[in-house]
Amino acid sequence: MMRENTPENYSGLLGTVVAVQANYYQVRLDINQCKLLCTRRSLLKKIGQKVMVGDRVEVELEIEGERGAIAAVLPRKTELERPPVANANQIMLIFALEEPTLEAWQLSRFLVKAESTGLELCLVLNKLDLATEIQLQNWQKRLNEWGYEPVFISVAKNQGIDELITKLNNKITIFAGPSGVGKSSLINKLIPAATVRVGKVSGKLHRGRHTTRHVELFELPGGGLLADSPGFNQPSLNCKEYQLAGYFPEAKTALEKGNCYFSNCLHRLEPDCVVRGNWERYEHYLKFLEEAKSQQEILQQMPDEESNMKLKIKGSGEHYYEPKLESKKYRRSSRRERHQNLHEIYDNQSVNELDELADNF
Ligand code: GDP
Ligand code: ZN
Repeated sequence: MMRENTPENYSGLLGTVVAVQANYYQVRLDINQCKLLCTRRSLLKKIGQKVMVGDRVEVELEIEGERGAIAAVLPRKTELERPPVANANQIMLIFALEEPTLEAWQLSRFLVKAESTGLELCLVLNKLDLATEIQLQNWQKRLNEWGYEPVFISVAKNQGIDELITKLNNKITIFAGPSGVGKSSLINKLIPAATVRVGKVSGKLHRGRHTTRHVELFELPGGGLLADSPGFNQPSLNCKEYQLAGYFPEAKTALEKGNCYFSNCLHRLEPDCVVRGNWERYEHYLKFLEEAKSQQEILQQMPDEESNMKLKIKGSGEHYYEPKLESKKYRRSSRRERHQNLHEIYDNQSVNELDELADNF
């Protein structure tokens, strides 16, 4: 009989998956915090139950306790596709004030992408030591208007790190941000045992490596777990047009206070719109809206699940359709896979930093 999928029903050895490589899983056991190398019970494979890093799992010991097998996956609280992480609590978006100079458009794009995951969002601005007091105050004011309360830090000068640590304790956090902002330096600071290469060359050399999925969570001394996110280098906005306003706190606040005349308002030129206005990022909203629209159009042009019929022409010239399913090569692609393909096409700067990080351990 199937057990009901609630945590109380898992009385065995519980743990958290901290690394996945091929069919092996490293599980950190709750009982002693030790890591155990595990496989997955074939029943899970049969029912198509995937195991991701961040998953809470029930483990059965094998080979005198030296190995384990994952017998069950507990219900997930959250699930992120890219990077594939279960039960993440928050995204920590890291940018630098200078070197590279903080740029509103790029920051906005990352913020919108991060908001689209539905996870809590924490914005961190590094290299405080390179910014003037005026710059700092301007960004603080500007970002407050955008609806964010940034945490200013300097990894180099060890400023603001303690405040950051309190935000990471006992949580699963996804690190994201463009390269060069000091993410690796920060990870090294947070996890003294880590030796992540700083100032690494990323880009062309490593392209294509993201086919080998190797995801790992780094353990923080305070109990939290950290995942770097390779898919965030140049985030594409592949959301639906109507969803976009929900990813701008400014627009969300306006919609909490009042309603647009049309319930399906996209906040462009529609009459009696409560969102359209003179807020700084309205311009960003319009541009991202165009982008979302063209992304959706590209998606629609890709082979559809339903279009599995092939046009044939008889000798007589008569047209008819035949199912394509007889072709061995033909395989239905799910919407999710098509999204993934789009990522692959448009996210051309995507480098599997996670692979790289993991390789360095
Ligand atoms: P990543 O690409 O985001 O992982 O960035 P890295 O950690 O490789 O850092 C990029 C460069 O910024 C390196 O030369 C670091 O030494 C430097 N850096 C990192 N944090 C700080 C900081 O707080 N202040 C200054 N001035 N430089 C920093
Ligand atoms: Zn509107």
